[in-house]
Amino acid sequence: MTATPTARPYTVNQLAKALEVIATGRIHPILADVYSVRSADGERSYITSPESCGCAAFVLGEGLRCYHRLAVALVVSGLASI
Ligand SMILES: [Zn+2]
Repeated sequence: MTATPTARPYTVNQLAKALEVIATGRIHPILADVYSVRSADGERSYITSPESCGCAAFVLGEGLRCYHRLAVALVVSGLASI
């Protein structure tokens, strides 16, 4: 699957959620550029990289740019640290 990072921007709401993921420690490294991202209710964890995510929003194509991927992208790019 090929995602086009510039297809459309993240929303402000997605950015806020991604920052919340990082601020609340719900993101943990697994492999290089691959992270486990825990859901807000703590019931699920998604395997997420800058290119893909196991969440429904990504898998069902509702938005390839889910906030889990944004959180990982912020960390991988060095814009945010965990
Ligand atoms: Zn996701």
